Amino acid sequence: MAPNLPGVFAVQCPNPRCRKFMLVEEHDRDKVVPCLLCKTPIRVGSGSASPLSSKATPPPRR
Ligand SMILES: [Zn+2]
Repeated sequence: MAPNLPGVFAVQCPNPRCRKFMLVEEHDRDKVVPCLLCKTPIRVGSGSASPLSSKATPPPRR
């Protein structure tokens, strides 16, 4: 269960051996944050963030 807080969204570590989901705050958008586990730099707000579902089903956007 991921908390759905306003101004907070989830990013996933791009490291295939880690894949940790982390919550980052809105002001960290367009920044690079290090993964808490493997220290891999994660680009926030790159458009590949899928907060609640890791399935390949992007919601329709208007
Ligand atoms: Zn990681």
